[in-house]
Amino acid sequence: RAKSEGRDTYRFFNEEMNYEATEQLNIRVGLRKALELDQFQLFYQPQLDIISGKLVGAEALIRWQHPEFGMVSPAHFIPVAEASGLIVPIGDWVLQEACREVARWRDAGMHHPVVAVNLSALQFARGNIEQTISNAVADAGILPQMLELELTESIMIHNTERVLATVKRLKQKGFIFTIDDFGTGYSSLQYLKQFDVDKLKIDQSFIRDICEDEDDAAIVRAIVQIAKSLGLKTIAEGVETAAAMALLQQYQCDEVQGYYVARPMPAAQFMQFLQQHSR
Ligand code: C2E
Ligand code: MG
Ligand code: MG
Ligand code: MG
Repeated sequence: RAKSEGRDTYRFFNEEMNYEATEQLNIRVGLRKALELDQFQLFYQPQLDIISGKLVGAEALIRWQHPEFGMVSPAHFIPVAEASGLIVPIGDWVLQEACREVARWRDAGMHHPVVAVNLSALQFARGNIEQTISNAVADAGILPQMLELELTESIMIHNTERVLATVKRLKQKGFIFTIDDFGTGYSSLQYLKQFDVDKLKIDQSFIRDICEDEDDAAIVRAIVQIAKSLGLKTIAEGVETAAAMALLQQYQCDEVQGYYVARPMPAAQFMQFLQQHSR
């Protein structure tokens, strides 16, 4: 380190790192308690069929209601939960809770309700995810077809053989699989070849400027075409405008999810949304 760079840079760096480390530790300790104290909550974001406008399901998104900090975003604590291994018990809780909720949607009269749940790599590596899923489904009294499992690149890249085998067995039982954030991975097409999934969720980074950016539009069109050739469905995430929705319809994307339809909402509010959208 050159002297001329000054000690301030160094000190600044050090304090930043210290702050990060302390915050991580705080979150980690907090997460441990959060499960016991029941501070987690699932929000649900509607997913619509783009042609009929009908509600087809919802993605479950975890929220942490912290007594001091208020609502903590998953973008903040999921990485810490993953690094500390706590994502395994948290992920188990998410699966149980989401299965119980989709049973309520069915009981409220929704036809073919589906809840989509985000999974983490560690749940495949360390947890007994097949057992967790069959228990959650049995306890809630739902069919496998009512649970959609979202896979990310970090899941497919680690222990690929093991994950492939697990996905294959779960698929045979009737569970639905989707590749989340599709298009952002290092080898998205490779995963398509290896994993027998049902749906591609086109990442919101391609949807955001779809009406202004011709490259984004071309990529989305191409993803829909590939999916069609392979017999897969597509859903666009991060749909924020009517114009984006119209374009996606023109491109024959199957489903949409985004602020234009609705923001993620608590279970009770989603129940009202459901009643308004299912006649
Ligand atoms: P994701 O699975 O890609 O979820 C989509 C994110 O986009 C959600 O953020 C959602 O609230 C947000 N979003 C939805 N519509 C729009 C829109 O129109 N515009 C914009 N700008 N954003 C939109 P959220 O809820 O903060 O979750 C962030 C990420 O945290 C998720 O990304 C997922 O990777 C992770 N996550 C959330 N819940 C869970 C969980 O239960 N388990 C695991 N392992 N990860 C989770
Ligand atoms: Mg997701
Ligand atoms: Mg996503
Ligand atoms: Mg995303």
